[in-house]
Amino acid sequence: MEIEKKTIAVVGAGVFGVSVANHLSRELDATSYRVKLVTLSDYVYFLPSAVRLTVSRDYSSSILPLKDVIDIGVETIKDKVVSFNTSNLILESEAVLDFDVLILATGSKWPDPIGSTFAFGDDYKTYLDKQASRVQEAEHIAFIGGGFVNSEIVGELLFKYQDEIKSGKRRISIIHNSDKLLPANGLYGDTVRSKVTDYLSGNGIKLYLNARGTISDDDPNQIILGDDASKHIRADLIYRGVGIAPNVPTNHIADFCDDRGFVQVQTNFQVNACKEGNIFAIGDVTNFRYHGIMKRDNWVDVLTKNVISFMKEGANAKLASCSCYEIGETPGAVSLGPKTGFGQFPVPFLGTVSIPSFVVAKAKCKSLFREKMEDMYKK
Ligand SMILES: Cc1cc2nc3c(=O)[nH]c(=O)nc-3n(C[C@H](O)[C@H](O)[C@H](O)COP(=O)(O)OP(=O)(O)OC[C@H]3O[C@@H](n4cnc5c(N)ncnc54)[C@H](O)[C@@H]3O)c2cc1C
Repeated sequence: MEIEKKTIAVVGAGVFGVSVANHLSRELDATSYRVKLVTLSDYVYFLPSAVRLTVSRDYSSSILPLKDVIDIGVETIKDKVVSFNTSNLILESEAVLDFDVLILATGSKWPDPIGSTFAFGDDYKTYLDKQASRVQEAEHIAFIGGGFVNSEIVGELLFKYQDEIKSGKRRISIIHNSDKLLPANGLYGDTVRSKVTDYLSGNGIKLYLNARGTISDDDPNQIILGDDASKHIRADLIYRGVGIAPNVPTNHIADFCDDRGFVQVQTNFQVNACKEGNIFAIGDVTNFRYHGIMKRDNWVDVLTKNVISFMKEGANAKLASCSCYEIGETPGAVSLGPKTGFGQFPVPFLGTVSIPSFVVAKAKCKSLFREKMEDMYKK
């Protein structure tokens, strides 16, 4: 007699979706369970090293074939999840995928020049070549938003075009709504924010601080500063990146997301709004205060164990909590090109201490974790 298998559907082939799918397929008995991964692309896109792509065009440092990092025990379904409820997914192909447990790992939408597989599917080369060409041709590039990603991209441009920036042949500007670069969200201490700000402004990057930039409706190359249309700057290339934009497929589950659009989860990754308890979410799509890969090992481990407990014991399962940065500053390092970076480490009662720049340069800036990329998905 054939046993009816239970299905775990994982949506999104990012760092978290792929590694959780791999872990589950390794730990669950394949005669009773199946793990299905819904992916939009045949490739995975490793974001931490993507800030260098417009100047390096070395796409192998950020893109890997999915087949090289996914276990054969995971069934991949190439499609896009359009909507879901508590028992099935509706795919773009109009197929319906029933599940017993759903794990949402759909990440964020990232604007140009980073992009995501959600935007370019398999055709990363056309997308990234276009971004690199636009950057190469532009004389004045303006970034609206001086957060982590834009600051790192500008650091890369500064390293590549330092002579042209010094001579005034090429200009780069950042418009940022605070007195220092990086978000004023409590995760970054003042010292690291000041160091990043001073380094970029001291090396020829024009900063418009405490300013809000809006692209003019009449002229796509004009940015209006604040509400006064007479205060504006012109740039031949404008990138607007003002933070993380969670990517949640349509659903009609009340209070699924918070008012910023993030999926509301508990520290055990279970979605608050799902009464059945069978929907989990992980990574950038969640309302965790900290988003990033520093807690990857712990998060993947805890989610895997919790899903297995839930599959075996149902709603009575005791689920474990992960370790996440719910208060205070976090460890962090900002890379500003292959040789320069600034970092911080939180210390109880002291706030943060700076990580020496040569340590950040060696540990992060040189390779942007490229050597760890494959393991981030596989392990
Ligand atoms: C430029 C940049 C640099 C960064 N640098 C660092 C760093 O130095 N250190 C650090 O800790 N963190 C860094 N981060 C953050 C870190 O990369 C992210 O937190 C992490 O990659 C999030 O992984 P994820 O799996 O949640 O999402 P993603 O990697 O974004 O994966 C989401 C996946 O879901 C897919 N998807 C979305 N919607 C659907 C759908 N409807 N159907 C099917 N599939 C779908 C997407 O195509 C994508 O493959 C950086 C982020 C960026 C953008």
